[in-house]
Amino acid sequence: MKLNAIGEFGFIERLKPMFSHLVGEQQMGIGDDCAVIPSDDGFDWLVTTDLLMEGVHFLREAIPPQHLGIKSMAVNFSDIAAMGGVPVGSFLSIAIPADVEVEYLDELTKGMYAISEQYGVPLMGGDTSKSLKHLAINVCVLGKCPKGTARLRSMAQVNDVICTTGPLGDSAGGLQVLLNHIPIAGDAATLVDRHHLPIPRINEGRLLASFDGVHAMMDISDGIASDLPHILRASRCGAVVDLDKLPVSSVLERAALQHGWSAEELAASGGEDYELLCTIKPDAFESISHAFANAFGRPLMPIGVIREGTASICWNRNGQAASLQGGGFAHF
Ligand code: ADP
Ligand code: MG
Repeated sequence: MKLNAIGEFGFIERLKPMFSHLVGEQQMGIGDDCAVIPSDDGFDWLVTTDLLMEGVHFLREAIPPQHLGIKSMAVNFSDIAAMGGVPVGSFLSIAIPADVEVEYLDELTKGMYAISEQYGVPLMGGDTSKSLKHLAINVCVLGKCPKGTARLRSMAQVNDVICTTGPLGDSAGGLQVLLNHIPIAGDAATLVDRHHLPIPRINEGRLLASFDGVHAMMDISDGIASDLPHILRASRCGAVVDLDKLPVSSVLERAALQHGWSAEELAASGGEDYELLCTIKPDAFESISHAFANAFGRPLMPIGVIREGTASICWNRNGQAASLQGGGFAHF
């Protein structure tokens, strides 16, 4: 059988039951943004790991090495943020092809250091190997959160308001700029930066997780169209999402108009924005949204509602049922 018959998640689903009986009662194993391991000291450990593979996740000639260093840490910090935690240490495993120069690696690690310093997270170990062809970067991050407060994908409840912490589709717009060799200047440059330099929403995740009314949370790495169904499957519910409410930046709106892209499709299906996706108890939404705007100077964006039903999204546009082109990123 070819791997594309089951896909990335089919493979993970074959692994998960093999190990599930070894996962402790208070632990969270495969299936969320981080694993959760309780400690005896009033907090839970969070562990996440992400692999960035040349040719699949990045083009070595297109991303400056410092940006690649920042991104490889940021995507892991984002998974910690998605649980409502803070990162406490990182590990770097790297496989390096012979044509990579020391100066390139210096820039790469300078980027890793810059974002680690910003959040006070030391690099505490790793592994180094030769690679026959491609550069492969795997970062593992350890984090923590107050005991019992980790937000899981399984915590959504019917009637919850579905929200994101910021605009969607900018990163996918940046990828379009790179793939179509559009000159990197003005709005195009802003979008490429959004693609190369995602901001882990650590402070946003911490604030949100401090409210009981915030139920499920995850980060948007593959796009709403494929990420929200992870929450729906884990929480055994459905959702209605309003395409006209998906937050789109003015930069993406202008660029989409100029280059003939659908901003709506990029916002719904494009990956790697690394904003947080959360579901909030309806009667708590107003006060949480107010606290969020006070803390960050920008609003929390409601995009839909959790409903009873099968784990699929009903898309609406201006109150009418609508269909969506594209479906998020798939590996195989
Ligand atoms: P994310 O996008 O948040 O990084 P993924 O979609 O990559 O999460 O993975 C989904 C879940 O499957 C996570 O809990 C992750 O730890 C787990 N997972 C992915 N690949 C593997 C693997 N090769 N072995 C074990 N667990 C895996
Ligand atoms: Mg994630």
